Amino acid sequence: MFIEKLKDKLKNVGDRRIALIGLPYDHNSSFLKGCSEAPPIIREALYCDSTNTWSENGIEVATDSVLFDAGDLPHFDTNDSFDMIDQAIELLLQHNLHPISLGGDHSITFPVIRAFSKRFQNLNILHFDAHPDNHHDFQSNPYSHASPFARIMENGLAKRLIQVGVRTISGHQREQAKRFGVEWVEMKDWRAGIKFDFDGPVYVSFDLDGLDPAFAPGVSHYEPGGLSTREAIAVIQSVKSPIVGADIVEFNPRRDINGMTAMVSSKMLKEIAAQMLVTLR
Ligand code: MN
Ligand code: MN
Repeated sequence: MFIEKLKDKLKNVGDRRIALIGLPYDHNSSFLKGCSEAPPIIREALYCDSTNTWSENGIEVATDSVLFDAGDLPHFDTNDSFDMIDQAIELLLQHNLHPISLGGDHSITFPVIRAFSKRFQNLNILHFDAHPDNHHDFQSNPYSHASPFARIMENGLAKRLIQVGVRTISGHQREQAKRFGVEWVEMKDWRAGIKFDFDGPVYVSFDLDGLDPAFAPGVSHYEPGGLSTREAIAVIQSVKSPIVGADIVEFNPRRDINGMTAMVSSKMLKEIAAQMLVTLR
C-alpha cells in the first residue's frame, strides 16, 4: 500500500523542504499514450553523470538533505488514481514538504491542486502550456488532460490562473477562459523580459509542450512557435512570491530524441526546485 509506505518513509523526512513524487498516468491522454513512462526517466536524467545537480543560481537541489523522494505512485488505468494523488500530496504538505510532481499527462494537476487548495486558499497558478487545457468535456471525458483547468477554476481551487505560451485556442476555449477570468500571455504577444507579480503563494504547472518542439520533441502534441528553454527559465527565475509546489507534465519518452526532453525536464525540475528554495526562505 503506497500511502502506508509513504507514511513510514516520512518519519525520516528531517528538515527537507521539497518532495519529488512520480504520477505515472496517461489514461486521460486524448491523442497518444507514453507520458506514464516519464517519472523514472526524468530521475535518471537528474542524476546523469553528463551534468550535475546544481541549479544556475548556485544551489545543489538534488541532494538527500534537500529533496525527499516519495517515489512513484502505482500505475493503474482508472481515475481511482485521482484519490490516491490527492491523499499523497496532502500527506507531503502536512509534513511541510513542497511537492514537485512528475507526470504523467496534465490531468494529474486537478487532483494535485485539489490537495493544495485545502492548505492554500489564495493560490496563484503559473501555467506554461501550448494549450489552455480548459475544455468543458473533451471527447466526453471531463477529466481529460485537455480539461484540468476547467475543473480547477469551476471548483474555485485557485484565485488566479496565468497561462504562458498558449498558441492553439478554439472558440470554446476562449469562452471558457473568459468565463473563468484566466489571464493569458499568448505566444503571439510574447516579448523578452516578461515578469509577473503575485500576491500570495504560487504553484507552477509546467507542460513541456509550452516549449517549442525544437527544444522539447518528446511530447504528444507538437505546436511549433513556442517558448525557448531559456525564456521559460527566465520566467521561473523572476518569480519572487513563494513557490509552494509544481508539476512537470506531458513528457512522452516514446517521442523523445536522444534523451533531449528528459534532460529539459530535469533542467526545469532543478530550476523550479531552486527557485522554490529561494522564494520559500
Ligand atoms: Mn497541458
Ligand atoms: Mn499542452
